[in-house]
Amino acid sequence: MQYKVLEKDKISGFLDYLASKHNLMAPVSEDESFSQFKRVYQASEINLNYTNTVIPPKNYFFPPAENLFSFSAENGGIEIKESRQAENMVIFGLRPCDINGMSMLDPVFNGNFPDSYYGPKRERTILIGLSCQEVMPTCFCKSFGTDPTDGSGADLMLTGLENCFLVEILTDKGAGLLENAGGFFSDESVDKAISEKKLLRDKLAGAFLREPDLSGVKEILDKNFEHPYWEELAAKCIGCGICTFVCPTCHCFNMIDTSRPDATGSRYRCHDSCMFPGFTKMAGGHNPRPTRVERVRNRFMHKLKYHLDRYNLDGCSGCGRCIAKCPVNIDISQIITHIREVVKDD
Ligand code: SF4
Ligand code: SF4
Repeated sequence: MQYKVLEKDKISGFLDYLASKHNLMAPVSEDESFSQFKRVYQASEINLNYTNTVIPPKNYFFPPAENLFSFSAENGGIEIKESRQAENMVIFGLRPCDINGMSMLDPVFNGNFPDSYYGPKRERTILIGLSCQEVMPTCFCKSFGTDPTDGSGADLMLTGLENCFLVEILTDKGAGLLENAGGFFSDESVDKAISEKKLLRDKLAGAFLREPDLSGVKEILDKNFEHPYWEELAAKCIGCGICTFVCPTCHCFNMIDTSRPDATGSRYRCHDSCMFPGFTKMAGGHNPRPTRVERVRNRFMHKLKYHLDRYNLDGCSGCGRCIAKCPVNIDISQIITHIREVVKDD
């Protein structure tokens, strides 16, 4: 890995440079409690101190609503107009849990059956990570082996230190971006910056309020599909689906065709949620998940077992968004602990 140093007083210049040369997405704070990734045009719009966005950056690759194609049935035939667009993009300021979340999504859309909408967008995007400076009470990425300064999965990783940012060049894409922006970076004091980053990493590792132990949880779930614990959990859930819409790894969608009286229309897909009653309803009316019990169980099985079964990857990045947003305080980090205790008590 190659390292560079970016002095703190040069970060604005670097971000202005990025915004002038690329479609730049970065964290913007709309108010004290709401940050989101947005297209930015200058450094002053960006909040470098945000903790976590409400909506995950996966939406740039898998949008909440995406037009797949339009059609028109004029002149006796059907004309299809595809709407694939993949512009070059730089996403700056990703936290490690969100970079990890994208790595968990990749095999779903970019695996054995590549999705022709997701893949090109991923391919044409440069990801720049930004180490955390604090651990929020809802964070538990550590349980999934992530440290809040780890840039694995990004192209570049920046870590804010006392006087500078340590820049880690992680891929050729990242190196290419820096080649053209060389004037902002130096090799001076790299060793000192690396030592400072280690101190930050150790400090953050000791700051987690939640550290659920995942060992053996998948094996417990393998054997407890019918456990009454799911009923207990479902009794609390109101089925609003917020947990799935804010999750960086949820990826379910519905397909919708619309048509107009003038014989034109479009097909689009939009985010869907396994927490909704109609999600698994089949054309003949049968629903394999007829009650909230099956739906709640599916969500936690998906995060902690099915994704591992299918891809050998965790299905949760420990970002804590679903914990922060659930209106009835259903908490996946507690469930990881509870499921072990509940099974032990049987
Ligand atoms: S399940 Fe919750 S904590 Fe895990 S990645 Fe999704 S939103 Fe984050
Ligand atoms: S956010 Fe909470 S209440 Fe809403 S569906 Fe998810 S677990 Fe249930």
